[in-house]
Amino acid sequence: MGLIRQLPPALVNKIAAGEVIERPASVVKELLENSIDAGANHIEISLEGGGTDLIRIADDGSGIDREDIPLAIASHATSKLQSADDLFQIRTLGFRGEALASIAEVSHLTLRTRTAESESGYEITIRGGQASDIQPIGHPVGTTIEVRNLFFNTPVRRKFLKTAQTEAGHITEAFTRIALAYPQVHMKLTSGNRVVHDLPAVDRWRERIGAFFGPEVCDSLIWVEDQQEHVRLSGYVADPAVSRGNNRMQYLFLNGRFIRDRSLQHALAEAYRGLLMVGRFPICFLRLELPPSQVDVNVHPTKMEVRFQDGGRIYSQLLKTVRHRFLTTDLTARVGSAVGTSAAATPAEPATAAAGASPGFAAGHAAAPAARPQDRRWDAYAEQMATVEQRQAHLPLTGAIPPFQPFPSRTGPGTAAAAPPVFPPPAAGTDAAAVSGSDLDTTSSPPSASPPPDALATQPSQPAAEEPAMSNLGFQIHNRYLVTQDEKGMVVIDQHALHERILYEQLRARTESRPLETQSLLVPEPVDLPPAEAAAALENKEVLARVGIEIEPFGGDTVLITSYPAMLANMRPSDVLRAVLEPLLAGGKDVSARDLFDELLHMLACKAAVKAGDKLSPDEISALLEQRYHYQDTHHCPHGRPTALFFSRQQLDKMFGRI
Ligand code: ADP
Ligand code: MG
Repeated sequence: MGLIRQLPPALVNKIAAGEVIERPASVVKELLENSIDAGANHIEISLEGGGTDLIRIADDGSGIDREDIPLAIASHATSKLQSADDLFQIRTLGFRGEALASIAEVSHLTLRTRTAESESGYEITIRGGQASDIQPIGHPVGTTIEVRNLFFNTPVRRKFLKTAQTEAGHITEAFTRIALAYPQVHMKLTSGNRVVHDLPAVDRWRERIGAFFGPEVCDSLIWVEDQQEHVRLSGYVADPAVSRGNNRMQYLFLNGRFIRDRSLQHALAEAYRGLLMVGRFPICFLRLELPPSQVDVNVHPTKMEVRFQDGGRIYSQLLKTVRHRFLTTDLTARVGSAVGTSAAATPAEPATAAAGASPGFAAGHAAAPAARPQDRRWDAYAEQMATVEQRQAHLPLTGAIPPFQPFPSRTGPGTAAAAPPVFPPPAAGTDAAAVSGSDLDTTSSPPSASPPPDALATQPSQPAAEEPAMSNLGFQIHNRYLVTQDEKGMVVIDQHALHERILYEQLRARTESRPLETQSLLVPEPVDLPPAEAAAALENKEVLARVGIEIEPFGGDTVLITSYPAMLANMRPSDVLRAVLEPLLAGGKDVSARDLFDELLHMLACKAAVKAGDKLSPDEISALLEQRYHYQDTHHCPHGRPTALFFSRQQLDKMFGRI
């Protein structure tokens, strides 16, 4: 007997639903896209239980004709495609006709809608794919969709959902992407009874970006613009002085659709080459407009990946445009001083860049097969494109660079009390002052030749016999390297890498038994974060507390820092938190608490260590050189780079032709 059976339609739909609807945020994305496609000017979303209990989205778009309602919720039914050819002329966000059917399959969905032509509104409810009759109701022109009990009939998927807070974070990210792409649409997001975002329609893209990411990012933005034949690139890149530890703040929109594209991310990284530190990522908000026929958006059900017909050309257009802007912008004057001081010399965003398109595409984007009244607003924006307004002068960024304190424990009696000594090893039975203050005159009084006995005890790998023979007096060159000698030759040490390693070892030993010393803030500091970072921060509250960072939710995507590691007293608490979050997010989902903690220790050590370029006093140099005997593996920094180069006397002799 044959074994192959045709699957029943309900099961087919459930399988299809799994592809498109992964979590509440997928529902929000699909419904928001429908509202945008329907030409809405005003969209409101409310959530309960992180979207799992309820997602309600109301728009003032075109509404759905009564006779179309059954089709709207049927699978593979769409008003946005008519023939196979249309598939290569996609101007709408949706076109697969799958979203509503998929959502209705795995939830309790209610749709209420009215078109401008209709006297009455209509309502239909669907429970796990079973539709009710259509009932007349009162409803303004537009559409309201309520999705309750998501995944009620797919328990496995439901089980995999994260906390309401995390799911709400994903929803906020989906909301952010659409809200950034359509600044001319008034959008509001409410979670429970809290308004997360209420964003009025704006003319300038910069204003909407600022509403999400605050003045630091906003003030760092540099306008870029370029048109090559039919391909238009426009938007903002951030001054290299403002960057992130991951690429999550690279917002790239293709014909109004948020996309992720490795090749374009690479082009961006190339454009910033030499301007960013290793491990730092640019921030950008860029729009690409090109004829829909030149791009395939039908690569993946969520349409986040696309395929360009001529990817190579777009790659080089992006690279050249951004690179050229950097070359013609005086970036050096800004780094570390006032970001954006030379902004006045750079071109401005047209007042209507918010419309997000050159006139041709602007008029075309919302043009679903039947032209809708709302399309007029696109034309209005296209007309305004002619007006170019002067970009507002940037505010200088103040207070970003804290004063340098190489050894926080020795900055004065006041702070010494608040901040525990950083430098001495916890087990060594000594402190920084004892080690480094004993030999202020390094020429007449060499530092103690052998490390304190405790330190030796903890470091059996260091042969004690070797140390007395060495002079660990050294000197600093170029404010970054220490030069010293041992009995076998000459050593050049990277001061930052060595200090980082030492601090890391100290921290590890110290945190084995108890959390790091913290400094409570008299006035807790609120920090605005991107939604995903806020969620990650709160989810990892305990791990953060172990490294001394204590946070509380403060509503929205704001968290309140109540205390932070005392050893980072010279950093702004908000910078500490941001720096800590980056490894947290870069680590992905599978990172263990241990790895995460380790990563945080690396980060703390790196931030607290002296930097290349820091001038050290003679006693600081001696202290640093001495410390390297107290810890294992001080020849590499925690990232694996060498801390020191060694030139043996033999090598030197050979090079000088002595042997
Ligand atoms: P797609 O967006 O790919 O066409 P969907 O399943 O998301 O598929 O929607 C099916 C159809 O329902 C759409 O083509 C559109 O005609 C209609 N529709 C869905 N949401 C709305 C809305 N908010 N306003 C007006 N029409 C809508
Ligand atoms: Mg859709």
